[in-house]
Formats: sequence, C-alpha cells, structure tokens
Amino acid sequence: MLDIQKIRADFPILTQKVNGKQLVYFDNGATSQKPKVVIDAITKYYEEINANIHRGVHTLSQLATDAYEVSRGKIQNHINAKFPYEVIFTSGTTHSINAIANGFASILKVGDEVLVSALEHHSNIVPWQMLCEKTGAKLVVIPMNDEGELIISEFDKLLSDKTKVVTVNHISNALGTLNPIKYIIDKAHEVGAAVLIDGAQAVPHLKPDVQELDCDFYVFSGHKICGPTGVGILYGKEEWLRKLPPYQGGGEMIATVSFEKTTYADLPHKFEAGTPNIAGGIVLGTAIDYLNEIGFENIQAYEHELLEYGTKRLLEIEGLKIFGTAKEKTSVISFNIEGIHPYDIGTIIDKLGIAVRTGHHCAQPIMDFYQIPGTIRASFAFYNTKEEIDTFVEAVKKAKMMLS
Ligand code: PMP
Repeated sequence: MLDIQKIRADFPILTQKVNGKQLVYFDNGATSQKPKVVIDAITKYYEEINANIHRGVHTLSQLATDAYEVSRGKIQNHINAKFPYEVIFTSGTTHSINAIANGFASILKVGDEVLVSALEHHSNIVPWQMLCEKTGAKLVVIPMNDEGELIISEFDKLLSDKTKVVTVNHISNALGTLNPIKYIIDKAHEVGAAVLIDGAQAVPHLKPDVQELDCDFYVFSGHKICGPTGVGILYGKEEWLRKLPPYQGGGEMIATVSFEKTTYADLPHKFEAGTPNIAGGIVLGTAIDYLNEIGFENIQAYEHELLEYGTKRLLEIEGLKIFGTAKEKTSVISFNIEGIHPYDIGTIIDKLGIAVRTGHHCAQPIMDFYQIPGTIRASFAFYNTKEEIDTFVEAVKKAKMMLS
C-alpha cells in the first residue's frame, strides 16, 4: 500500500494554486512532476561537480564523468540491458527514434517495408516517413479497432520478407492501450525485421526488461518518469548499434579525426556527439531510484484503482464517451462530451485549477480514425488521488453545464 500523502509531500508543485484553485495535475502523459530529490540533485550537480565529462583529467571532470556513468549503469539495471554501452543518452524519445530511423537509411532499399502501428505518436511516424522518402521503402500501417487495440491478425498478414523494421509503442499516449509487444517482437523476428519499441508512455508505469522482450531498440524520455526534460534513452542491442552509422558527427563520438578520414568512437560514445545534458543524465538515475523505491508493482496497482474509479465517475456524465477501451490499458482516460469541443472543456476546467491535455495528443491518425478533432485526456500518476478525480469530475460537469 502506498502512503499517498507522504508521496505527495515529495512533490513541491502539488501544493501550488493555479488560477486561485488547488492544482489538480492530470497531464502526466505529457510530462510528470518532479520530486524534491530530483530537483535537489540538479542543484547539487551544478553547485558541486559541474564540469564537462569524458575529456578532462581534472577532479571535477572525473567526478562528473563518474556520476554520469553511474547513472548509465542504473538505467542499464533498470531495463535489464546486457551491457552499459547499449544504453545511449539522448535528448528524449524523439531524438532516439530519429537516430535509429536515420541509421536505417544506410540499410533500406526500394521495396523494403517499415511497419508502423496506427496507434503511434507523431514522433514514431514522421522519422520513418522521412526514412521511406529517402530510401524508397514503403510505410505500412498496422490497423486498429474501435476499442483502440491493434488488430493483430492484420499485423500477422502484413509481415513478410520485405518487412525490415517494425516500430510500435509499448503504450499509446492518446488512449492508454498496452500493446502486445512481446508477440509483435517475436513475430517480427521470424521474418528478420528489427523492432523498435517506443516506451515513452510505458516507463512511468512499468519496468521494461529489454532482454526478456528481446526488442532491438527501446526508447523513452526522462521527463515522463520524474526526471528533467532534455534527456532520454536509446537502448539498442549491441549488434545493431555497431551496424548502424552514427546519427550526428562532432566531438565525443570520434576515435580519430583528420581531413581525410574520421574513425568513430566505440559504443556508447559513437551515438553521443557533443556535450550532453550532463545534469539531466545524472539526475535521471536519481529519478529512477526514486521510482524503484516506491516500486512499480505498487505504482501499477494504485494507478489501476485510479483508472477504474475515474472511468466509473466520468461515465456518470451523460453524453460522455471514452475513446480507448482496450482490455489492457494504463491510467489514461481520453474522452469527449457530445456536442462540445474538447478545447472548451479544457479551458474552463483550467480556470478551476485542473490541468488536462486537450487536442490530438500528437496522434492525429487516431483522431482521424475516430473522426474527431481531439479529446480531453486525463492521465493519472501515482501521486494523484481519488479526491482529485472527484474535483475533476465536478469541474467537467460544471463545464458541460456552461457549454450546453
Ligand atoms: N512517443 C510517445 C508515445 C509519447 O507519448 C511521446 C511524448 N508525448 C513521445 C513519443 C515523444 O517524446 P518527447 O517529446 O519526450 O521526445
């Protein structure tokens, strides 16, 4: 059992008033709030060991380098990567996906296929579209059903020896659907395709085991798991990271440089050009420690309670429709109220201190599927409460009354 009041006390922002009202933060899918340990660790880094890493012999540089590499090790353990050098620091999920999609430009040929799911965030569509434009490969979409689940029998049919990459999210940001990624990975491997899992929305709720999953790439952002913005992870299997060319050229990622030829540094540095977000990388380790102390099983069980309670309460509202009713889903409720634009509800409840996301959630194809302009998305985290859900439901009812 989680002591929610104790957990809430770890998050200074949760006591804030917004527009004169107590903040209810239900936009965790966009970014999580940060506990004091993470905020303090950022200050501590800049006050005590700030220096550039991997290049200085001086003490501060060594301390910063050590802290950065310790954090890499924590992330390796957390996702159960085989080697620390399979964990690449990036600026976030978007950067990680672009790095891989760009790498495949040297591999794909005309007629090859990249399978992407209908449930993707734009970050896991556009880089692959750009890759297909560059190489003449074809982007093929795994369709979804009305519940917001992937149609796996269609996925089976789409797989062929033309399939070179399969890219799907672990959990959909717009609907909360948990995808059957183990099945997808195993099936894709049967035809020799590489599989990228966009874990951006999964890592706040569960602990992925990349060896058990056997995915080729697993990517996520630090800011959705209590870490700072501007840092993320690209996990890649060693063989793929060796095979793919680096994404960016610059300092850090080279072994030797002359005007005739440059040789690349070994992993992970080959994919880490330039000065990284050092504080962010170090503090991502702090955030992961914090979450592991709370425990992902506890987080999941509690968030499931919030999801069930929130769903039940929202469905009391006449004309309210929830999009994304998959059997397996996380604590995301995407909904609309008949005849009312989601943006209008979002604007009114903001005045009441409630933060939710409204719009297409960077997943326009999902909105097109349902033929809607967008939804109101409430995404819960382990520091939210049922009382906050009550406040939210009352606010939505009030907004509905004002707008009807
Ligand atoms: N994929 C998914 C499923 C996401 O939810 C997000 C963030 N909303 C991204 C990718 C992009 O993450 P970032 O903006 O941190 O790069």
